Formats: sequence, C-alpha cells, structure tokens
Amino acid sequence: MTSKSSACVAIEPDLIAAATGEAVASAASRVQSHIAGCATCRNDYTHYRAVETVVGETLVVHGDEDDVVTLSDVLGWARPQQLPVTVLPGTGHFFHGYLPKLQQVVTRFCASIVDAG
Ligand SMILES: [Zn+2]
Repeated sequence: MTSKSSACVAIEPDLIAAATGEAVASAASRVQSHIAGCATCRNDYTHYRAVETVVGETLVVHGDEDDVVTLSDVLGWARPQQLPVTVLPGTGHFFHGYLPKLQQVVTRFCASIVDAG
C-alpha cells in the first residue's frame, strides 16, 4: 500500500466523480491537471473508469424469496448506483426451478449489449 500526498487525498473525491462522469467541469479540469503529473492518481483514475464501464453493463437478477440476500438489501445496494434490478418472483437464492427463466433473462441482456455495439 502506497501512501498518498495530501494533494492526492484532497483530489480523490473529484477524481472518482470525474471517472464516473459526475464531476463539474472545474473539478474535472483539476483532476486532469493532477493526473497528468501524478502516476498514482492516473492509475486510480484508470481503475475507476474500468469499474464504471463494468457497472454500466451490469445485470442484477434477484429472486424475491431469497432468504440469503434479501431483496430490500439488493435494492438498497443498487439504488445509489442507479442499477436496474430484474426480479424473478417466486424464486430464492439459487433460482431452483427458475433456471430456464434466468437463462432467458441473461441471454436477452447479453444480446442487448451485442446489439448496442
Ligand atoms: Zn496524485
């Protein structure tokens, strides 16, 4: 674990916002100036961008009878990330009896990504 300078610690919230496309222009500009001269933060920025890309292509499928991870916990996790959640009513944590339906949901999702290019 590397220690960060105070400038790096100070810019981290803006760095995350810039990587996720949520930074105001002035903050995004400060981040670009900083990462131009700071390899550590440039590396962090690259990782945050990669995570943002994955999140943008995330499918969350949940059974409303899941007693391992509750639906309300999943919604609480997904809400701040604005991730859609597909709920399969009547199924639990392992989708017993619903695997063909799960396959259909996943297949449609994958096709939508391919179609979107
Ligand atoms: Zn830095």
